[in-house]
Amino acid sequence: MSQTPPPSKPPRLKEEGRAGGSLSASAIAGGVRSGETSAEEIVRGRLDAVKEGDSTIKAFLAVFEDGAMESARAVDRKRREGGRLGRLAGVPVALKDNMLVKGTITTCGSRILENYRSPYDATVVDLLKSEDAVIIGKTNLDEFAMGSSTENSAFFPTQNPWAPGHVPGGSSGGSAAAVAAGFAPVSLGSDTGGSIRQPAALCGIVGLKPTYGLVSRYGLVAFASSLDQIGPFSRTVEDSALLLDVIAAKDPRDSTSKAAPRGGYAEGLDAGVKGLRIGLPRQYFEAQGSDPEVVANVQEAIRALEAAGAVVAEASLPHTDYAVSTYYLIAPAEASSNLARFDGVRYGFSEKTAPDLASLYEESRGAGFGAEVKRRIMLGTYALSAGYHDAYYEKANRVRTLIRRDFEEAFESFDLLAAPTSPVPAFPMGERMKDPLSMYLADILTIPANLAGIPGISVPSGLTSKGLPVGLQLLAPAFAEKTLLRAAFALESARPFPRLGSND
Ligand code: GLN
Repeated sequence: MSQTPPPSKPPRLKEEGRAGGSLSASAIAGGVRSGETSAEEIVRGRLDAVKEGDSTIKAFLAVFEDGAMESARAVDRKRREGGRLGRLAGVPVALKDNMLVKGTITTCGSRILENYRSPYDATVVDLLKSEDAVIIGKTNLDEFAMGSSTENSAFFPTQNPWAPGHVPGGSSGGSAAAVAAGFAPVSLGSDTGGSIRQPAALCGIVGLKPTYGLVSRYGLVAFASSLDQIGPFSRTVEDSALLLDVIAAKDPRDSTSKAAPRGGYAEGLDAGVKGLRIGLPRQYFEAQGSDPEVVANVQEAIRALEAAGAVVAEASLPHTDYAVSTYYLIAPAEASSNLARFDGVRYGFSEKTAPDLASLYEESRGAGFGAEVKRRIMLGTYALSAGYHDAYYEKANRVRTLIRRDFEEAFESFDLLAAPTSPVPAFPMGERMKDPLSMYLADILTIPANLAGIPGISVPSGLTSKGLPVGLQLLAPAFAEKTLLRAAFALESARPFPRLGSND
């Protein structure tokens, strides 16, 4: 078992087949640019893999068969005519179905948007297209990105490609499963409390949540605006760096978008970790419900980083215990406000037979939203209501500051923090659906980074004795994505991990 071929090596077409391709995005783009392979062949192969395998995995809510083939042919035509091809030439990309692609349906995994047609392209979609990527479809998610297993989708659950009958994680479970199954080399998800990192861990792939504000959220349907961030899934660290290079850009259409230095994320990945100070937050290794096998596996991976020259020591994030309760006040509060727009009048589903306006609102929302979304709207509305605003919402914001300060203090002594991404590997479907609290605890190790606005990446660190993937999470100070990616790359090189559908 070895890693996906480096970009310098010409792509071997036999690796792209019906079992799902195993070429990386950078290898594909290199091959398409040099003419060794065509975008049409690559995209056809992945669409065939979806046809063959997605009736069991159910990663996709929509596949853009015709549109994708047309875009692929346009890329090949551009090459033949001597045009300059972009950095993602012919690379098939899957998108979580909460990002708008003009003219296509964006459901957010909800009945209320079942027929909602996107009026414009999200900024990330613009950026992907401008680098000649090919969008092959939209992936399943927990309704409005609320959940940790993709079982809250109004349409169907998605299977973990590693373990049928187990969840892929969530809320971006479809995007993670699509990459793990080889339906696409890369995809995009959104991470509000862990929804990129946690499914990446459970599906044995790389998932990166960038710094808050680094990637534009224009055209991402808002869940909790002070926490949401778009980021990549991939099989290799290099591919996540490449995607970040393309999507990280200041956008005047998103007021939270920051003017961070552009690009360069894929450079210097192999600089190593010699002398890098890595802290192990004690609280993250003792989290409620942690599986000892996960903890042991991550500790072993950390030893590999140490052997590569990193300086490892214990760290402390003392307010970790309050993160989940803080998040479950702030996120629902913001969601209750963001979701007010889905009123049966302006967007999507409308209960047209309602006798008056108030009933139209009630009946459209009553029938359009699922149980978890309703639970969050009620929680959030309560936390923001006049009598309780100070006691709940304001207090949560004060605790959020304490959590942010924990990180600031830790980063005075460390360049990075390392810990498990999820306290447990993929769990059986249905196991946590009856108990929302147990589902909320799945994000205990990812939520603090969203509250602090810092970047985090999940890298595969191995398999449990049952063959379920384990993810190691690295956290960095705001805008230190380069350090994050460099350490992730070092880990990937020190501990090559198995990939599904790849037998090279
Ligand atoms: N699982 C968390 C939630 O349900 C995080 C979701 C996310 O990051 N979108 O809110």
